[in-house]
Amino acid sequence: MKETSPNGVLNFSAGPAVLPKSVLKEAQRDLLSLPGIGMSVLEVSHRSKVVHEIVEGAEKDLRKLAGIPDDYHILFLQGGASLQFSMVPMNLLFSGGTADYILTGTWSRKAMNEASKVGVVNTAATTESVSFSRIPSKDELQLTPGASYVHFTSNNTIFGTQWNHLPDVGKTPLVADASSDLFSRPIDVSRYGLIYGAAQKNLGPAGVTLVIIHDAIVKRSPSTIPALLSYAIAAEHRSLYNTPPVFGIYILRLVVNWMIANGGLESMQRINHRKANKLYAEIDRTGFYRGTAHRESRSLMNVTFRLPSQKLDELFVAEATSSGFVGLQGHRSVGGQRASIYNAFPETGVDALVEFMQEFERRLG
Ligand code: PMP
Repeated sequence: MKETSPNGVLNFSAGPAVLPKSVLKEAQRDLLSLPGIGMSVLEVSHRSKVVHEIVEGAEKDLRKLAGIPDDYHILFLQGGASLQFSMVPMNLLFSGGTADYILTGTWSRKAMNEASKVGVVNTAATTESVSFSRIPSKDELQLTPGASYVHFTSNNTIFGTQWNHLPDVGKTPLVADASSDLFSRPIDVSRYGLIYGAAQKNLGPAGVTLVIIHDAIVKRSPSTIPALLSYAIAAEHRSLYNTPPVFGIYILRLVVNWMIANGGLESMQRINHRKANKLYAEIDRTGFYRGTAHRESRSLMNVTFRLPSQKLDELFVAEATSSGFVGLQGHRSVGGQRASIYNAFPETGVDALVEFMQEFERRLG
């Protein structure tokens, strides 16, 4: 039996993506009336005790889930990960400084482009010459001594590659766009200066962006930048400088608690390994399907592959869609297939896709 959404589909979308069913059910209840409050979670003032408890509770639960140390601020912002592409350099890159960017795909390029509007940017490494099919090796990094920070994208949602080691950047603050793999595995926050991620993959709905930032980095924010773009102001007001994305934070907290109840980050990692391994084993089984990422760089979150021809790729997507496997088409810029299997994606759904792939190959291989 495949576990599907209430509409009977298996959602392989890269984001917004599948959420735990128990979270959706709880949200459905609270959408009408929060227990003991008598108002919808959508209706309460952000200056009320209820919302303060939601925001503070989300922060507390995140610290518990990921062991986030006290000298890191947890911020709930808006504007998606894309706004972080601008906020990071506006807060961290000063005149005379250089920011190192590791270029591993579309999203890191966008981040880098925004930074270059603010200051001097160095490409510390890139795998563009091999179509971003792998993560750079340790000895490929060419870091700028005394750089303001080093930015990397921990999981490349479009190309299906993921870092399985942290770039060694010495004392330079490490900044990660972890939008598509945050909390898919344990994370040692203390090794980063700043981690950001849009919520709509592993953490909740679109509309809230999580930023985890070291106190020393917050202190760098220049007072001359607009208030809503300043980490210092967001930290000072604990994400309540203006009306925060209350509903997004509320759902994020439910997702965090779902992760805690399901064994935490070690358990997420174990299950994510198992799910991805099943798909990669099928991809590698006969050569009919071809993984697009180098083996050592394969993502556990976005499994990208191709069929022997574009025609077969198109037929695969069409047949998969009509069988209830939704969102498998690769990003419009690269084509092929992409199965996004974030934390909340059920393992039974992976099993069902493997079965579908085998049956498709039997008929058309
Ligand atoms: N970074 C990564 C790694 C992403 O996958 C995405 C979205 N798919 C973004 C940034 C952009 O996120 P947003 O649309 O929230 O700005």
